[in-house]
Amino acid sequence: MVDGKAELLAPAGDLEKLKWACAYGADAVYFGYEFGSLRSFAGNFSLADAEAGIKYLHERGKKGYAALNIYPFSKEYDKVRETAGVLDEVGVDAFIVADIGVLNCLKRLGVRAAIHVSTQANTVSDAAAIAYADMGASRVNLARELSAEQICEIAKKTERRIETEVFVHGSVCFSYSGRCAISDYLTGYRANHGECKHPCRWKYALVEEKRPGEYMPVYEDERGLYFFNSKELALFEYVGRLTEAGVASFKIEGRMKAVHYLASVVSFYRQVLDGKKFSREEGMRLLGRVPNRGYSDGFMKGDVGPDDYSMGESLSQANSLFVGNITGEKYEGKSVVEVRNKICGDDELEVLKPDGTLTTITMPAEMMTTNGQSVDVVNNNKAITIDIDLPEFSVLRKVGTKDEKYRC
Ligand code: SF4
Repeated sequence: MVDGKAELLAPAGDLEKLKWACAYGADAVYFGYEFGSLRSFAGNFSLADAEAGIKYLHERGKKGYAALNIYPFSKEYDKVRETAGVLDEVGVDAFIVADIGVLNCLKRLGVRAAIHVSTQANTVSDAAAIAYADMGASRVNLARELSAEQICEIAKKTERRIETEVFVHGSVCFSYSGRCAISDYLTGYRANHGECKHPCRWKYALVEEKRPGEYMPVYEDERGLYFFNSKELALFEYVGRLTEAGVASFKIEGRMKAVHYLASVVSFYRQVLDGKKFSREEGMRLLGRVPNRGYSDGFMKGDVGPDDYSMGESLSQANSLFVGNITGEKYEGKSVVEVRNKICGDDELEVLKPDGTLTTITMPAEMMTTNGQSVDVVNNNKAITIDIDLPEFSVLRKVGTKDEKYRC
């Protein structure tokens, strides 16, 4: 809780993303360290990053939680203890743990930071939540396999004993969160050690062993084979009800996602937590600005069915293209844009500001680079100036169909 209000908790895949999440309204962020997080490929924090990140957060009255949520083998506990000691010293506000052994280890170490139980622990009852409270945890992230009704019941029953946290947005496992070995089998990378290669989102076909290279499509129905490829959660319509039931924190998935995702999704949920109402259509349109595999209510509505999986399609789609962001620097008195994708003269761009407001601008026919060149087209890795005063972290994007986004 933040001043009696539910907390908005955002992912931070690296130090830059931590700053973006803060700018767009997160109350707290979670990140992984060099050891122990369930996202080995998420650009995890070094010790220097963790120190700088926690300082940055605390200076702004925000919190930082370190994920220590792998399921370590016995021989890895020296490393668990070492990591916990280092991060506790840095001043992290909480450790996120999944394994009961890690939880016990942290209690025995007497870490100063709070202990939050990860969604990977699959907590689906008030009895389990209370058990974690008895073991010393102060918060539990409830399993993504629960309905709104079940979450409300658990939150109400446990409110005096342990905080509840709920994922409101982002990717989900097709399996019970984390209880999956497809990545281990197909790639040799272990999901429960943070190495998942997400093979559940791949496209599969049938090959007869004597005819290698002949891929026969497999259809579960006329739309294709889709039972592995879960849509992503977008649960903004449930926030009010869950807040009333006492849920203390709403968490956004995506430590591996880009800064445009953070800006768009965090600012959207910031507004939702602050009481702004969005129709389903408007919410989906705004959340559709970033790549996604389709959105669903998942188990929040009760059971899941075929509509909660992406039909025969595993590619991410977005109704906008992130083309640049305001760096906060000035060049000859003008705002500097870091170009992320092709921008053309006369392009009409949507601007998302850190306070969540949207506006539209038209780029001049001739744009000026920070090298003093006049150009009518500019590509990524370049910087241009813009004659409009926009706050640092503002996002510039082209909105429209795929063809419209890339035209010029
Ligand atoms: S392969 Fe898919 S279902 Fe399995 S752990 Fe990875 S993301 Fe989850």
